[in-house]
Amino acid sequence: MRFEGKKALVTGASGGIGRAIVDVLRAGGAEVATTDRAGSDFDGDLKDGPFCDALPARVAEKLGGLDILVNNAGIITRGKITEASDDDFARSMAVNVEAPFRLCRATIPIMADAGGGAIVNTASCWGVHPGPDHPIYVMSKAAVASLTQCLGRDHAHQNIRVNAVCPNEVNTPMIRSGFEIRGFDPDEAIAALNASVPLGRIAEPEDIADVVAFLASDAARYMCGALLEVNGGKPVT
Ligand code: NAD
Repeated sequence: MRFEGKKALVTGASGGIGRAIVDVLRAGGAEVATTDRAGSDFDGDLKDGPFCDALPARVAEKLGGLDILVNNAGIITRGKITEASDDDFARSMAVNVEAPFRLCRATIPIMADAGGGAIVNTASCWGVHPGPDHPIYVMSKAAVASLTQCLGRDHAHQNIRVNAVCPNEVNTPMIRSGFEIRGFDPDEAIAALNASVPLGRIAEPEDIADVVAFLASDAARYMCGALLEVNGGKPVT
């Protein structure tokens, strides 16, 4: 996938999947601006509304345009609704839903003025088929999936394609920390999970990043509002 001349913004760029997305876009020739809480080109907290509102214009000014936005950052809140605090709900919705909303809202006019662009959101298989005991995370990812479908339809006429990748389990700090919190050895837990996947292993970040790059590329030029499940053959049960 070639991205010469393309300017991109990737959120959650210091995380497991985010780093792999940055690498694949850069390998294809894109100029990529990264954002995360630390260690990125544009450090900031995605819970900060004005930061999100201003970021696309700041990136476009620095890079000389903005052709690709990847809303990859996300957090997972575990546990049943009866265990959830107000803060769990507010934080998850702010990072997983409100930030992509604000970033899409600020990016679309920039892309429209330039004749088009591509937005790729990271939803989740669980945003399409709810998994157990994570209602806040699942509903936040369902909102991302719905946002993707809405914007995919509403902005296709401006040559702006909005699509989402929906991973199942991926070997990143997000999933490994969950095992640690529950007292499991992450390597052993992942080996057990691998056995549950028809392809024989859970995804590595690069497996997801390649699909994000495909959706961002001209190879996906006729795709708008798609929710692409990337699950190694393992459906959510
Ligand atoms: P990760 O924890 O490795 O990376 C997430 C990144 O988002 C981190 O670098 C973190 O600093 C950043 N981030 C979180 N809150 C932020 C905030 N308030 N402001 C700025 N940055 C913030 O997780 P990952 O597995 O790479 O997840 C990437 C995306 O993939 C997420 O949207 C996640 O929900 C989704 N996803 C992951 C899995 C999985 O199994 N790992 C499965 C399905 C979907």
